[in-house]
Amino acid sequence: MEICYVCPQCGKRYPVTADRWKCDCGGCLTMEYDKHPLDFEKLARDPERSLWRYIDAMPFHRQEDCWRRATMGEGGTPLLRVDYDDPRVLIKGEYYAPTLSFKDRGAVTVMALARRLGVTHAAADSSGNAGTAIAAYGARLGIACDVFVPASTSDKKIAQITAHGARIHKIPGSREDTAAAAIDAVEQGGAFYASHIFNPFFHEGTKTYIYEIYEQMGGKLPDVLIVPVGNGTLLLGACLALSELRDWGYIDHLPHLVAVQARNCSPLAQAFAEGQLSVSPVPTQETAAEGIAIAAPARGSQILELVRAIGGSFITVEEGEIVAARQEMAKFGIYVEVTSAANYAALLRYRASHPESAEQTIVLPACGAGIKSK
Ligand SMILES: *Cc1c(COP(=O)(O)O)cnc(C)c1O
Ligand SMILES: [Zn+2]
Repeated sequence: MEICYVCPQCGKRYPVTADRWKCDCGGCLTMEYDKHPLDFEKLARDPERSLWRYIDAMPFHRQEDCWRRATMGEGGTPLLRVDYDDPRVLIKGEYYAPTLSFKDRGAVTVMALARRLGVTHAAADSSGNAGTAIAAYGARLGIACDVFVPASTSDKKIAQITAHGARIHKIPGSREDTAAAAIDAVEQGGAFYASHIFNPFFHEGTKTYIYEIYEQMGGKLPDVLIVPVGNGTLLLGACLALSELRDWGYIDHLPHLVAVQARNCSPLAQAFAEGQLSVSPVPTQETAAEGIAIAAPARGSQILELVRAIGGSFITVEEGEIVAARQEMAKFGIYVEVTSAANYAALLRYRASHPESAEQTIVLPACGAGIKSK
């Protein structure tokens, strides 16, 4: 089967072309292609450490040049104890990535696709890390990038983006205003929309996060998976991999998924708690967790549906808890950007409110490096 985009809302299918980024009905696209179940026994002998070791289950071919030109060895991040004396809590060190956040997993697949399609000009909008990753892979592939960020984005992230030669556009107002500016540039200027939110190739990269955990834990998954959610790029990739591993017969039950939002900006957690099918506008306040501060996630209904379908739950964390969690992690030698500390804050909350969790293995990601934020 040829790779195609599919709209989960109306069922319409589209060929994968450079100008297609959502359905005519407005739905966010997913994708279908011939996927081969992974053979983990064979993989155990494979010296490839990057996420490309999983290419059989990705919409790319081994012989292709596009991903070989793009890769910087992303993926293959360590699974570490935070506290050596607490072996049940494991942190996935995503800050080991080439641009220091897990967004490299999805940026490399989206930009390899851009290369395959012959794209010369791409645009992206981001609160920072996705834009940085797109800019880096764009530079590597000779694809000119325009990156739209909220004016409030940290100077360090902006410096990282411009270092790669991308044109930066600081957009005043909300995160949604930034997205609107990027979409405008895509519609008017004809750039490829290298969107970590709309392009489903992004999830084909982030899903490898779960494959790696499965291998690193010796062919199983933890009891609990803590995953941050703003637009859900890691969460949607994770859900994709969980259903694949189940379909292929590698796991017979799913870990409990705990989705994390900052209390100050928690539209998904609120919609989930109220049993809503889609995200309605809720009042939000500023949060230090800039990377997950998404008031109107485009894939909101998809996320709610998936988290419900797999019996997951939401946790929200307060600003003070986020700041304290960052300090706590640093005491164990792990320095993450503020957004990422929300995951550890959620772990502490989860453990405090679920006595049974003392016996559970829990994996949480350290999504971005500490030097990225103030
Ligand atoms: C992107 C990102 C997240 C998760 O955000 P989504 O919008 O759900 O993809 C979490 N932490 C950091 C540091 C990030 O860069
Ligand atoms: Zn549609």
